Amino acid sequence: MIAFPMTEKNVNLSEFNDPGLEVLITAEAISKRIAEMGEQITRDYAGRRPLLVCVLKGAMVFMADLIRSIDLPLAIDFIAVSSYGSGTRSTGEVKIIKDLDAPAEGRDLIFVEDILDTGLTLSYLLENFRARGTSSITIAALLNKPDRRKVEVHLDYKGFDIPDEFVVGYGLDFDERYRNLPYIGVVRSVG
Ligand code: 5GP
Repeated sequence: MIAFPMTEKNVNLSEFNDPGLEVLITAEAISKRIAEMGEQITRDYAGRRPLLVCVLKGAMVFMADLIRSIDLPLAIDFIAVSSYGSGTRSTGEVKIIKDLDAPAEGRDLIFVEDILDTGLTLSYLLENFRARGTSSITIAALLNKPDRRKVEVHLDYKGFDIPDEFVVGYGLDFDERYRNLPYIGVVRSVG
């Protein structure tokens, strides 16, 4: 558990070269994998117009790159659910804070998530959206922590399996920090 108070004074000024971070997945590897995921989605959804739903905030960087690797007409929307707050572990509570702008009925939804951890968030969203009369629902997650799963969730499009470590970067934060890193890193110490 990381619990450093992060004041203006002790925040490292360079997020990109923070000595307290260890690179887990490089920007190049992320970009290559997302191109492959986009090709797969393009093939699978040929002739359809999927609605990609970004689960805020962590997935926004992944969403921005993923939609540009999909060669199909598509629509996007955003949903926000209650998160872990400033801790590093799931509380198990899920609540929709911001819902879609338009009804999901009859749509082919692709939930775009940064990381599948316990699975509680996505299993809640799946149940909630199935009840809304969607045509189909799939899940695209950049990262997957299989060791942490509490509920089974089928991952249709997966970027990388990672070990049970708290990761940041590429949209993922620790207390709102590190979202702008172009790579995925593990926090070893907060400077
Ligand atoms: P789940 O409901 O699957 O346990 O949680 C998914 C959410 O937990 C993710 O969308 C993400 O916001 C957060 N989360 C899980 N593991 C990590 C992690 O290693 N780093 C960060 N920054 N967030 C995580």
